[in-house]
Amino acid sequence: MSEDKTCSSCDKTDCSSKAQRPDENSDQFIERQALNKRLCQIKHKILVMSGKGGVGKSTVATNLAVLLAQKGNKVGLMDVDIHGPNIPKMLGLKGPLPGGSGNSLIPVAYSPDLKVISMGFLIRQDSDAIIWRGPLKMTVIKQFIKDVEWGELDYLIIDAPPGTGDEPLSVAQLIEDADGAIIVTTPQEVALLDVRKSITFCRQLRMKIIGIIENMSGFICPHCDKKTDLFKSGGGSKLADEMKISFLGSIPIDSQVVEAGDKGVPIVVGQADSSVINAYKEIVAKVINLVSK
Ligand code: ADP
Repeated sequence: MSEDKTCSSCDKTDCSSKAQRPDENSDQFIERQALNKRLCQIKHKILVMSGKGGVGKSTVATNLAVLLAQKGNKVGLMDVDIHGPNIPKMLGLKGPLPGGSGNSLIPVAYSPDLKVISMGFLIRQDSDAIIWRGPLKMTVIKQFIKDVEWGELDYLIIDAPPGTGDEPLSVAQLIEDADGAIIVTTPQEVALLDVRKSITFCRQLRMKIIGIIENMSGFICPHCDKKTDLFKSGGGSKLADEMKISFLGSIPIDSQVVEAGDKGVPIVVGQADSSVINAYKEIVAKVINLVSK
């Protein structure tokens, strides 16, 4: 295929999908163009990562997406946690996906401004286990971008499984112009140790890091308002300082977050202001500011 083939994705003259690369065959080139055609319609792409499981990464991804949509943005939430897709449960959504035309997939609408795609919509039962190797995961993530009718979006929030495995790697390779990663941690040293690996992963892949969020940062007693640092606190901001990364904020422990997630109604929806909700609002404001620079 000739070098000067016009990009079918956009009119940009510097678009990376305009020319076939020396290392790709024509099928790969056509596929990359289809991928970029979708990505061109999405202004900001943000990967939410964590070094460890259970630190609240999916909860953070969900609440960030809902708050961004509440502010009038068009938002997509892509759950690429193939083995443990929890986003549908956290938003009270169920599959199957509405039928699309041809190969295309229609995301499930949480609200007019928030569309969601997840492996959870494609498995038959919640107890089904997916046993897939890396290349197959890459294929499904590619489909989640290329074949999903996202339409024009202001933000695509991508919830990756914990660690630095195939899924975040696929996202980093497929979304070349991602705004960057948000890394979620809890304050204790064992969690922070793994965050360093996430930071190294991003730096090796030249993925920008938008910032670190410290979740489960202290418990505020609902009776006496006294704060107890169950998992310590402040480690996330210290690490951010040390690694010269923005610190986006601390979210306290609150049993209402658990109830909200289990009920499928995110904490930022319809609740009176609380320290958790205020923390989320401040974090979203910082993220908007950082990615629009
Ligand atoms: P991960 O995606 O990192 O595995 P999840 O988002 O699934 O973590 O959260 C794990 C559990 O922790 C869930 O039950 C969730 O409701 C709870 N959780 C998350 N954030 C908080 C918080 N700030 N306070 C209390 N519980 C939280």
